[in-house]
Amino acid sequence: MQMILPRFHYHAPTSLDEACEILAELKKDARLMAGGTDIIVNMKKGLVSPKNLVSLSRIKSLTDRILDTASGNTRIGACVTAMDLIRFTQGAGRYHALASGGAACLGTPLIRNTATIGGNLVTARPAADLPPSLMAYGAKVVVKNRGGERVVGLEDFIKGPGQTVIQSNEILTEIVLESQPRFSGGGYEKLGVRKTLEISLVNAAAFLALEKPDGPILNARIVLGAVAAVPMRARAAEECLVGEKPNEKLFEKAALAAAKESKPIDDFRGSAEYRKEMVKVLTRRALRTALQEAVNQEQRRKG
Ligand SMILES: Cc1cc2nc3c(=O)[nH]c(=O)nc-3n(C[C@H](O)[C@H](O)[C@H](O)COP(=O)(O)OP(=O)(O)OC[C@H]3O[C@@H](n4cnc5c(N)ncnc54)[C@H](O)[C@@H]3O)c2cc1C
Repeated sequence: MQMILPRFHYHAPTSLDEACEILAELKKDARLMAGGTDIIVNMKKGLVSPKNLVSLSRIKSLTDRILDTASGNTRIGACVTAMDLIRFTQGAGRYHALASGGAACLGTPLIRNTATIGGNLVTARPAADLPPSLMAYGAKVVVKNRGGERVVGLEDFIKGPGQTVIQSNEILTEIVLESQPRFSGGGYEKLGVRKTLEISLVNAAAFLALEKPDGPILNARIVLGAVAAVPMRARAAEECLVGEKPNEKLFEKAALAAAKESKPIDDFRGSAEYRKEMVKVLTRRALRTALQEAVNQEQRRKG
């Protein structure tokens, strides 16, 4: 395996407009780099060898920005690291599934200090840790090029393993999270062979919005990772939940439905049958956490 980086030209724009100009000029000869935890590894392995690497790390609007807007939405710069996400979400007491779940499970402290939210989405690994909880919270992404920008729902953004709708002249600039309604919460569960530094065998994120603390459930989203080519919504499971009062029996029923609709494969990490079993377990746990978070969130609001 090649371990020395191939030669490339390095660009370090300090504004988004400058970065868009560079991409427009260099076209397919350029690749973007945020934290570099994926692309540098792939370059060292000889899997990609761009002539130009355009670093986003000096663009403050991408690296330093987590903004609560007047409408209650949260806008997160694409180059915010996993560690900053954890700090923000814990400090704000919101988006629990994204912080304590997704971002906290990502790699090691060293990786979390470097890996960015945008890089995790564009890499589009079926087992990645951030897409499921972001999808469960209904996230949208903003994509920009020299000519303007477009907003895409995260569910439509990821197309397949390593594939997204982003074009070579575009930059993912922001992730937009809807404001969380009252009595709502999220949960995320990851299973790997080891406890740390491990790719998910299965992961599951859940979001519940209730009419009042004991229900009924007004809205439910369940997203499963590593059991299909892209993180998938478990829609039949969600349908079991909406309109019902939350309880263990209901969560069991939804978890079973999620397992049925998941489409895992056999590989060296685990069999499809085992993964389906684990979808059941993780979905149930994520739903429990989401319910608990809905209650906690209300208590924090009052306190
Ligand atoms: C040791 C190790 C452990 C890991 N563990 C985990 C784990 O547990 N869970 C997990 O999910 N991942 C894990 N990863 C993968 C990796 O850290 C994440 O996918 C990370 O979030 C990628 O972000 P980055 O900023 O480093 O991306 P980069 O490597 O900089 O970029 C990755 C890709 O995204 C593109 N890109 C980056 N930012 C943008 C942007 N704003 N707009 C458009 N394109 C962009 C780049 O061109 C490149 O193609 C691990 C990696 C390593 C090396």
